Amino acid sequence: MDKDLLVNKLMIKSLSEMFSLHEKVNIIAGPCSVENVDQLEEIAKTLKKFNVKFFRGGAFKPRTSPYDFQGLGLLGLEMLKEIKEKYGFFIVSEVMDPRYVEESMKYIDIIQIGSRNMQNFSLLKEVGKTNSPVLLKRGMMATLNEYLLAAEYILKEGNRNIILCERGIRTFEDSTRNTLDISSIAIIKRYTSLPIIVDLSHSLGRKDIIIPIAKAVLALDVDGIMVEVHNNPESALSDSKQQLNFEEFENLVENIDRIY
Ligand code: PEP
Ligand code: MN
Repeated sequence: MDKDLLVNKLMIKSLSEMFSLHEKVNIIAGPCSVENVDQLEEIAKTLKKFNVKFFRGGAFKPRTSPYDFQGLGLLGLEMLKEIKEKYGFFIVSEVMDPRYVEESMKYIDIIQIGSRNMQNFSLLKEVGKTNSPVLLKRGMMATLNEYLLAAEYILKEGNRNIILCERGIRTFEDSTRNTLDISSIAIIKRYTSLPIIVDLSHSLGRKDIIIPIAKAVLALDVDGIMVEVHNNPESALSDSKQQLNFEEFENLVENIDRIY
């Protein structure tokens, strides 16, 4: 691996405190999309019971079809802020447009850059100019080298608060939504000191194998996992097949707890 890419970054205090490394694994959970306040409330109450610290929910949704639900935008961010204030979560939410970066920071704690925007260089530069923690997802078509260079775009502007997120890449295999590249996790851990988490929901696109795969990635000593949880997955406005219901989430947490 290119030496320039051996990022050896000391995270500033805010991120290391928020994202307490090498303790029990951090869980980022919540719905694919922010749909309404009642939905968020129900999910938040459940996640709180399991001591989840990071609540995810998309307000700006990068949908493949322009006719699908596009998210509630700023209204969705306002709802997330309500949940943050009421339950004390750190909020993770995707921002797709550089023009919304600054505004979004008033509502959320971690800006997510989604797979489809990993090489949106204006967006990378814009979040790089802030000191906001950034969850940078791997592009579904990106090599590891391209991925780490995307992280470099953010670092180059001065923001070191980056959390990497492996979320699977596109291959010919179609039994999972993407192919989870577990070697990339080991390589990232070996050659960088950035925290790395795994998004189980978007890697797999299915729920029936989430527990064994969660165990596998925990064996790689990842810093966190992300999982989509919904109060009523069947009626979700996006990704209904992969979102866990509360019982499934409880089962996942119990299995994870058994490892520690
Ligand atoms: C998401 O996490 O909401 C999302 C759209 O994931 P990805 O960018 O990995 O497809
Ligand atoms: Mn989703």
